[in-house]
Amino acid sequence: MHTSAHVAGAPASVPTVDVLVVGAGITGIYQLYRARQEGYSALLVEAGTGVGGTWYWNRYPGARFDSESYTYGYLFSEELFDEWEWQEHFAAQPETERYLNHVVDRFDLRGLMRFDARVTAASYDDVAGRWTVITRGEHGDEPAISARFLIAATGVLSVPYVPDIPGQAEFEGEAYHTGLWPASAVDFTGKRVAVVGTSSSGVQVVPAIVDEVASLTVFQRTANWCTPLNNAAITSDEQRQLRSGFEQLRETLNTSVHGFHHPPHDRAAFDDTEDERGRFYEQMWNSPGFTKLTSNYLDLLSNPDANAEWCAFIAAKIREIVHDPETADRLIPKDQRFGEKRPPFVTGYFEAFNRPNVTLVDLSETPMVRVTPGGIETADGVSEFDIIVWATGFDFGTGALLRMGIEGRDGVPLAEYWRDGPRTFLGVQTHGFPNLFFPGGPHAAAGNNPRYNSDQADFITDVLVYARAHDTDIIEVTERAEERWTNMVNRGASSPLSFGESSYYFGTNIPGKPKRYLLNSAGRPKLFSVIADAVANDYDAFTFSKAQAPAPSASAAAR
Ligand code: NAP
Repeated sequence: MHTSAHVAGAPASVPTVDVLVVGAGITGIYQLYRARQEGYSALLVEAGTGVGGTWYWNRYPGARFDSESYTYGYLFSEELFDEWEWQEHFAAQPETERYLNHVVDRFDLRGLMRFDARVTAASYDDVAGRWTVITRGEHGDEPAISARFLIAATGVLSVPYVPDIPGQAEFEGEAYHTGLWPASAVDFTGKRVAVVGTSSSGVQVVPAIVDEVASLTVFQRTANWCTPLNNAAITSDEQRQLRSGFEQLRETLNTSVHGFHHPPHDRAAFDDTEDERGRFYEQMWNSPGFTKLTSNYLDLLSNPDANAEWCAFIAAKIREIVHDPETADRLIPKDQRFGEKRPPFVTGYFEAFNRPNVTLVDLSETPMVRVTPGGIETADGVSEFDIIVWATGFDFGTGALLRMGIEGRDGVPLAEYWRDGPRTFLGVQTHGFPNLFFPGGPHAAAGNNPRYNSDQADFITDVLVYARAHDTDIIEVTERAEERWTNMVNRGASSPLSFGESSYYFGTNIPGKPKRYLLNSAGRPKLFSVIADAVANDYDAFTFSKAQAPAPSASAAAR
């Protein structure tokens, strides 16, 4: 673990780097690797005490991929791909955390990382064309870092949200948010446990702890269209096939619409007969993870009748699995199409409700009133708990960026510039904040995160290299480029069929947050085409200029 207050080899006064990356998650690690590869002096600061980002903070029981492990991991090195044998098609959190630590050590990046360093302020100096960044750790503020380029790889799902339900401070048991899970194991043995929230995180926790608890009460506000993850160990034959097929896998993942390797289906739902559709839905149900979205009927998201039939199939499955008809009925979504929200994938979730010690509380019938010292009160009365698990989501997209005290040109806070929602070009930069980039931030594509985040990190690196080759050091996206991308995102999001407005996609899970679409509504192909245009047009989406003042004298940082 590195908690040193200074950059290796730097004088104590002003650590000075070309590139400062924020966040040691999958994107930040790659961005650091790329920056160093291109010869920039680079440093990475991370609020946690270890590597992993999402896979560091979300260490709750049951946390695992629902993208195939080998499609989520890095593709930039065939040797790395060859030597890391994922154990399961969908790896659990500990394996992923080990993998990311392995990558950091294998590529000798740890010495460029400073942990326990949360960015609390970042201000842009227009004359020097540099960012001054303050971090805070366990022992308070650390010396400011001066960076030419500030690259915030702070993630879209990194600021946990706990609803403002009264009485939480008085709760005498243990309470945890899935996204801020403690490093030390939580002992559920014989405990009365509440899980609040039934989306991707909550539905992973429930079956993972059900064997240990005395009782488990699941508080559901909205049911979700959960389907089986269909995880399995990777056999030695499959390991061999993965290695021999690496080039093709990389090509598929680097070019596919959503960053997955599953091919799209070639038929619309009603091209098939009823019998054929029944067999196809069964096949989908038994297919791994996201295939239910990526390889389902072509018109699943555009034809309400096709979507309704698939939903009816899932509802019948839920009724088949869950013995109590009332519980089954409550677990079936009534108000959303499949794919309108990000679908969770499960192992043993519905089955858990057949246990005598598991209860489902439908908050739409009996709303939560308060947390009491001993438990949770709903409109139906008080239930006693030893542990409450808040699986209640995140301040998505803009959450982390708006909490870093970022001030751009003329001291304009990012929080002010984005008061009505994010404005970006390609989800990588915003006007008035020169030399600040945010790969994997708001307005990025939707799909397998690491794939399009690395598209962005590569693009950012290319822009930096272009600026250097043209003897410039200040890069700023034009207002026009930003406006076009932002308008495109907002226009696309008004499509009536494809998007759930009552979800974190629009920020509507956070009280008071402006309702704006926070992904790239045109997806990865649009990202590709606009990147290609930007390159073909000599990066004219940006202005490039020369700083008027030299960098602070205390230059530093290992390469
Ligand atoms: P989420 O999808 O935002 O779900 C939050 C849950 O909390 C929802 O069930 C929500 O109910 C509930 N909730 C929020 N406020 C509440 C309140 N006041 N009272 C009661 N319930 C409340 O968050 P998440 O489950 O952590 O997942 C977030 C994202 O993280 C996922 O979409 C996915 O991208 C990622 N993730 C991935 C994996 C994986 O398998 N790889 C696992 C976990 C998470 P409503 O629906 O009614 O708002």
